[in-house]
Amino acid sequence: MKQKLIVLYGGRSAEKEVSVLSAKNVISATNKEKFEIIPYFISDNGDFYRVTDLSELMTNQTRDENFKIMPGDIYEDKAVVLPILHGPMGEDGTIQGFLEILHMPYVGPSVLSASSTMDKLLAKLVFTSLNIPQVPYVTALAGENEWQIIEEVAAKLKFPVFVKPSNMGSSVGISKAENVAELNLALTEAFKFDSRVVVEQGVVNAREIECAVLGNGNEVKAAFPGEVIKDVDFYDYKSKYLDNRIEMAIPADISEKLVHQIRTYAIKAYKAVNGTGMSRCDFFLDNENHLYLNEINSIPGFTQWSMYPLLWDNMGLKYPELIEKLVELAQSAFIIRE
Ligand code: ADP
Ligand code: MG
Ligand code: MG
Repeated sequence: MKQKLIVLYGGRSAEKEVSVLSAKNVISATNKEKFEIIPYFISDNGDFYRVTDLSELMTNQTRDENFKIMPGDIYEDKAVVLPILHGPMGEDGTIQGFLEILHMPYVGPSVLSASSTMDKLLAKLVFTSLNIPQVPYVTALAGENEWQIIEEVAAKLKFPVFVKPSNMGSSVGISKAENVAELNLALTEAFKFDSRVVVEQGVVNAREIECAVLGNGNEVKAAFPGEVIKDVDFYDYKSKYLDNRIEMAIPADISEKLVHQIRTYAIKAYKAVNGTGMSRCDFFLDNENHLYLNEINSIPGFTQWSMYPLLWDNMGLKYPELIEKLVELAQSAFIIRE
C-alpha cells in the first residue's frame, strides 16, 4: 500500500509564494510508486481547500469555494502530513499544534522547535544560554519610550544596525539603519509586524553561511555548510525570492576549523530546541572570521533549488530521498510521542 502524504501549502504569511513553489517541487519529485500525494491549499485568510489538480496547484488567485473544507477534514488514518508553510502560522508551532491535536504524524519541527526558533528574541536567549556566539542586540518592546530604545542602542551598538520584528521570516519588516533617523523609521516599520522587536549589531560585509540539520532527538546530522553569495547589500524578500539574485557556493569556501565549529553549533542549538525533522541554521562570518549564529529556520525554503535540499544533495542525499527520510523521521517522532 502506498504511504499517504498530505501536503499543506500556501498559508497566511508573507512567504506563501515560496510555499507554493516548495509544494510544487515536492509533489513532482516524490516517488509516486511509494507515495500517494494529497495536497491541501491554505488561503491567505486561513481557509483550507481540497486540491484535485496536482499539475496546476490551487493558489489565492484560482481558489474555488466549492472545494473549501473544515481544517479537521484533512484527517486520514496512517497519513503523514508535510506542512510546507513558512513564517507565522506555519513555522511557528501553530499548525504543528493543530496536527498534534488531530493526532497525525507530521514532517518537520515540533511545536517547541518551531515556536522557539521562529521568535528571534526567544531564540537569542536560548543561544546565549548555550554560549553560542551571536551579534550584540537590544530588545525593543511596543509602548516603550522610543528615545530610551535609541539611547540603549547608542550605548550598546554601532551603526549600521538591523531592526527586525521578533516573529517573522523572509526579511519581512526588517530594515538596516545607518543613523538615528533611519533607526526611528526602522522601528516604526518593524512594530507594524510585531510588538517585540530586536535591534541587532550589523555585521559589515557579512558572509552568510548556512548549515542544514536533519534528524530527531539525539540522532542528528549536519551537512557541510554552504554560502549565500549576494550581489545586494541586504538579502531582502525581493532579492531572495523574486529576482533570483542569489548564488550559492556549496560547500562554502571556508576553513575546516570553521566548518567544524558551524556544524557543532548548529547541532547544539538544534538539540536544545527539541529540533525535529529539519532546520537550516544560518550564520554570519565577519571580515575577521568571527562567527555568529543568526537564526534557525525550522521549515527552510524547500524547492529543488533551495539551499537546504542542495546542502543534502552535496552530501549524497538526493531530493526525493530527502523527502522520504523526512517522512520516516515524522513517523518515528510520532511513535515516540505516543
Ligand atoms: P529572516 O528570518 O527574515 O530571514 P534574518 O535575520 O535572516 O531574517 O535577516 C534577513 C537578512 O538580513 C539576512 O539574511 C542578512 O542578509 C541581513 N541581516 C540580518 N541581520 C543582519 C546583521 N546583524 N548583520 C548583517 N546583515 C544582517
Ligand atoms: Mg528566518
Ligand atoms: Mg534569514
